[in-house]
Amino acid sequence: MTLPALTGLTPETLAAWLKEAGEPSFRANQILAWVWKKKVTSIGAMTNLPAALREKLTSSFRLAALEHTHTQGSADTTRKFLFRLHDGRYVESVLIPANPALYGEKSDRRTLCVSSQVGCAYGCKFCASGLAGFTRNLDAAEIAGQVLAAEQLSGERVDNLVFMGMGEPLANLDALLAAISLITGAKTLHLGARHLTISTSGLVPQIRQLAEHPQQIRLAISLHGATDEVRQQIMPINRKWPVAELFEALDFWNARNNQKLTLEYILIQGVNDSLEQAAILARHARRIHAKVNLIPYNTVEGLEWKRPPDIHCRAFRDILKNAGVSATLRLEKGGDIDAACGQLRLKQELGEGIIASVDAK
Ligand code: SAH
Ligand code: SF4
Repeated sequence: MTLPALTGLTPETLAAWLKEAGEPSFRANQILAWVWKKKVTSIGAMTNLPAALREKLTSSFRLAALEHTHTQGSADTTRKFLFRLHDGRYVESVLIPANPALYGEKSDRRTLCVSSQVGCAYGCKFCASGLAGFTRNLDAAEIAGQVLAAEQLSGERVDNLVFMGMGEPLANLDALLAAISLITGAKTLHLGARHLTISTSGLVPQIRQLAEHPQQIRLAISLHGATDEVRQQIMPINRKWPVAELFEALDFWNARNNQKLTLEYILIQGVNDSLEQAAILARHARRIHAKVNLIPYNTVEGLEWKRPPDIHCRAFRDILKNAGVSATLRLEKGGDIDAACGQLRLKQELGEGIIASVDAK
C-alpha cells in the first residue's frame, strides 16, 4: 500500500497527526518549513527533528506525491516536467520563463501550467488530453506538488499559476480547492490567489460554486466558438451547457468576483475562425468585460486540425480590437515543447519510448 504524501497535509491535519503521535505542537511549523519553504527532498533531511520523529514520519508518509522522471526544454525556454504518480500514471507541468521578447505583458513573471487530472473526460475534438479519455482525478498533494516540484527543479519561484494542463479542473473541484489552500497558505506555498487562474471548458454549476469562493481567483473560459453551432462541433460539453447558459454563469461570476474574466479562443482553420465568429465573440467579451486570449492552434499528432495563416489570425484579432475589446494574439510558433499540454504524458503512456534512462535531477 502506498503511504499518503506529506505534501497533501494541511497545517491542521499535520497538527492533528502530531497530537495523536504524542508530539509537541511546535513540530508542525518545523515540518511545514522543511517541506514548503526549504523544499527538502527527504524526511531524513529535516535535521532539527528528533530521529524518532523522523522515523515515525517515514513509516507513516512518503514526502512527495510525484516522482520527476523527465524534463524537456531548457532554462531560458519553456520547460516541460513529466512526473510519475504512485500508480504508474504520468502528469506534466509546463514552466514558462520570464521573457519579455516572447511573452509581452507577462514578461516579469514565471508561469507554471499545472494538470488537475490524468486525462480528461470532456473530449474536446482538438485536444490531446481529451484524446485518450479520462483515467483519474489528481489529489491535492499531486496538484500542489507540481508547484513545489517545479520550484525545486528550477531553483526559481513560480509567480503565476495557471490550471491549464491536463484535465478539467472544475470536474475535480474538491481536490482543486484543497490544493489551492496549500498553494496559497502562509505556512505552505504562499502564492497570492490573484496569481492563480483556473481554466475551464465551461462547467456551469461549478463556475457558480467557485464564484462564491472567498479567495479572488481568476477564471479563464475555453470558449473556442462564439455560437452554439460552431462550439458544439468541437466541444461536446456545449450540448450540456450551451453558450447562453455559460454566459449567465459568467454574469454571476462577475457579480461575485472582481477579477477580470478571460475568454480563451483557439483559432482552428475553417472551423471557428470566420470573421462573423470574431464579431460575435467581440459582443460577448464586451458584455461581460472580458479580455480575449487568441491562441493559434497547436498541431496535435493524429489530429487534422490546422492553425489559420498569421494574416488571418491578425484580421480576427483586429475585429476584436476595433470593437474595443482587449485581445492578445501570440503568433510565435510554440514549437514542440510549447505545444498543448497532455502530449508528453500521452507519448509516455502510449509507450513511444521518449523517456529513455534520463537523469531525473
Ligand atoms: N480543461 C480545461 C483546462 C485545460 S486545457 C479547459 O479546457 O479550459 C487548457 C487550454 O488549452 C484550453 O483553453 C484548451 O482548449 C487549450 N488547448 C487544448 N488543446 C490545444 C491545442 N492543440 N492548441 C491550442 N490550445 C489547446
Ligand atoms: Fe479536457 Fe480542456 Fe482538453 Fe477539453 S480542452 S478535452 S476540457 S483538457
